[in-house]
Amino acid sequence: MKYDTIITNGTIVNADRIRQADVAIRGEKIAAVGRDLAAKAAANGTRIINARGCYVIPGGVDVHVHLALPFCGTVSSDDYNTGTRAAARGGVTTLIDFAIPYGKETLQQAVDNWHAKSDGIACVDYSFHLCITKWAKQKKELPKMIDQGIPTFKQFMIYESQGWQSDDAAMYGALEALRDLGGMLMVHAESSRVLDELIARHHNPREMRKYGAYLHTITRPNFIEAEAIQRAVTWAKATRGKLYVVHMSTADGANIIEQAREHGYRNVFAETCAQYLVLDDSLFAGKDGHLYATCPQIKKPADQARLWRGLKNGTVCAVSTDTCTFTRKQKAMWKGDWTKIPMGMPGLETMLPVMYTHGVLQNRLSMKQFVDRCCRTPAKIMGLGHRKGAIQKGYDADIAVIHPTKKIKVDHRKMETNADWSPYQGWDLAGFARTTLSRGKVVVDNYKFCGKNGWGRFIPRRTPGRL
Ligand SMILES: [Zn+2]
Repeated sequence: MKYDTIITNGTIVNADRIRQADVAIRGEKIAAVGRDLAAKAAANGTRIINARGCYVIPGGVDVHVHLALPFCGTVSSDDYNTGTRAAARGGVTTLIDFAIPYGKETLQQAVDNWHAKSDGIACVDYSFHLCITKWAKQKKELPKMIDQGIPTFKQFMIYESQGWQSDDAAMYGALEALRDLGGMLMVHAESSRVLDELIARHHNPREMRKYGAYLHTITRPNFIEAEAIQRAVTWAKATRGKLYVVHMSTADGANIIEQAREHGYRNVFAETCAQYLVLDDSLFAGKDGHLYATCPQIKKPADQARLWRGLKNGTVCAVSTDTCTFTRKQKAMWKGDWTKIPMGMPGLETMLPVMYTHGVLQNRLSMKQFVDRCCRTPAKIMGLGHRKGAIQKGYDADIAVIHPTKKIKVDHRKMETNADWSPYQGWDLAGFARTTLSRGKVVVDNYKFCGKNGWGRFIPRRTPGRL
């Protein structure tokens, strides 16, 4: 049997099984998984990748990413070039971005805009979710979007001033419509009216001088997220539509999701992001505190502990990054007013290392759970489970080879991201990809990016919301 590449001597980790085996690749697909494939293969022209002593895992699937996003008066600084290079170096081989219509744009125009940013540029595979910003106008476009391989739609419960906010009627209607169309609604769950009230109360020069970026925490107590999640879950229960809560950051949210699922509402899902598991809001009090502002913001150690527990028991089914990179110069736009901080941080390059080091090495997750929450479940729940997230015959040859213990000190100057800072600067992390393959092509070799622009393809998706 002639193969193009064989990964040999590694420990293959899938979400359901760990085994010693070789992986044989032909073209862009996994052609075989089994013992001694390298020994049997004709050596002529077959590239052998020796993974002795390493884990061989499916490439990470980061389902929550914003590349080159116009937001907060600027544009997020990792685009489809640097963002997908960062992904590859972090072992992430598929990402899903959010196409957002601006002003009077249709959903189709938003998708076209996002294709223009990505097609021919991306170095790893990608897909889009669509943001519904004007339900009454955009709802008629849902079937057409699903036909184009985009079955997941997000509504924002905040961001009224950006013109992005959805009200309860829009959420209820979208849940019903997507239930009938086989789609899934995603929500950014924060309670806008009380949030705006709290921001207004604290938005004065005296408090801004005194508390600085810490006002981000003061104005977003946990109930801001919890009330919104509770409300969205209520509409999901009533409609039986599929609901996926994005970037869940609180213990309270995890409790609500767990309770709903325990009561038989299996149509309710939630992800959290790596930063909510390892960073806490004491960082806002530091000199560079404003750099860490994201939306929602990082919370307390007790929230971290609860989210880890939810991740372990599967209540929190997936980990993403909400990558939305801003440089120091962009972050400096805040000038002491926390409401003007461009909100977001880089994450693609460090998702698997953070989750491996703080999850697996600290015994919070098993190796199989790590692969499940970062690769398999994200792929399945977003309708990519037929070709991504597993090392299995017939699947895309998206693979990361990681060393179990070798740690690399995070240094933004040596990274592919365009960020000139890192939330994890100086952290020693294991789990960076020694080798990454994207559809059979080596895009990271010996920890260095070696892929090329345009290799990544738009991947149409199937029915989401299935675990
Ligand atoms: Zn986001």
